[in-house]
Amino acid sequence: MGEFELIRNFFAAAPCAQGGEGVALGIGDDCALLAVAPGEQLAISTDTLVAGVHFADPCEPFLLGQRSLAVAVSDLAAMGATPLAFTLALTLPTVSTDWLQAYAQGLNAMAQNCGVRLIGGDTTRGPLTLTLTVFGRVPAGLALTRSGARAGDLLCVGGDLGNAAGALPLVLGQRSAEPALAEPLLAHYWSPQPQLALGQALRGKATAALDISDGLLADCGHIATASAVGLQVEVEKLPLSPALLGFLGQQGARAAALSGGDDYVLAFTLPPAELAPLLTAGWPVRVVGRVVAGQGVTLLDADGQDITPGTRGYQHFPETQ
Ligand code: ADP
Ligand code: MG
Repeated sequence: MGEFELIRNFFAAAPCAQGGEGVALGIGDDCALLAVAPGEQLAISTDTLVAGVHFADPCEPFLLGQRSLAVAVSDLAAMGATPLAFTLALTLPTVSTDWLQAYAQGLNAMAQNCGVRLIGGDTTRGPLTLTLTVFGRVPAGLALTRSGARAGDLLCVGGDLGNAAGALPLVLGQRSAEPALAEPLLAHYWSPQPQLALGQALRGKATAALDISDGLLADCGHIATASAVGLQVEVEKLPLSPALLGFLGQQGARAAALSGGDDYVLAFTLPPAELAPLLTAGWPVRVVGRVVAGQGVTLLDADGQDITPGTRGYQHFPETQ
């Protein structure tokens, strides 16, 4: 199968590539065209997933299709943006019809779930690598950045932490667990749900936000740096799922929540007066700490003692000592 046939059969023909609101021109020309309304800004983010680095190789292509788009769209959620479109740059070692069909189906399922349209891409031969660029729209000036946290704000997250990190030994086949524990953890890993509605609900309310991809401590460090504040995380307040606690025990679950990757849950800072209305409206807001004057991230135990661990999250290029 040639490159153009491949693009046509698996991507241009996918339901998610059939255009929609805001897409003035989709796949097939030299560029796609997006229409952005006056008073809105375009939010753009790119993520690359490399086989053997970001996902096990081989893995189930349908699940990879879902996950590759979900992790990219999660960045739109973190900015409070509404998804509009995405592009897919696909590097493949060989052309396998079965693989492409399953990958495109997983991609399409997540695209429909998130309301985002495939508008273009690139197809090349080489080691399996997926690069997705997502485009969203956000009212001008209302995007949630990392830089607005203020001392006195609450530090919050949008749900249970550590589930994807807990799933990793299952994904890699290093451990097994009974289905009641394994299934919910694996679902978080393979099919993370970008918190799009929560991100949009936090516009004009949260002072800073991001999606947790490298563990709570490492990602909170980005807010602390960008906002020039200190963040205190209280270990007792970490929301942990029954499946994660059952699989790893309390200590292991806490470690997964603090330093494990791939959660794609939002972390954000909130002036205290904003908390009650969000909870009343039913948003999943869990307070895990607070913003203080100072710098860096501090982990506190129930007695307020500093128990900050030394290493924080996964880094592709760790700083040398
Ligand atoms: P060009 O040579 O202008 O870069 P290509 O031949 O790479 O164009 O692609 C032709 C069309 O197909 C373009 O509209 C491009 O965006 C789209 N396309 C290529 N690969 C993919 C893909 N994997 N998924 C979706 N669209 C793709
Ligand atoms: Mg091209």
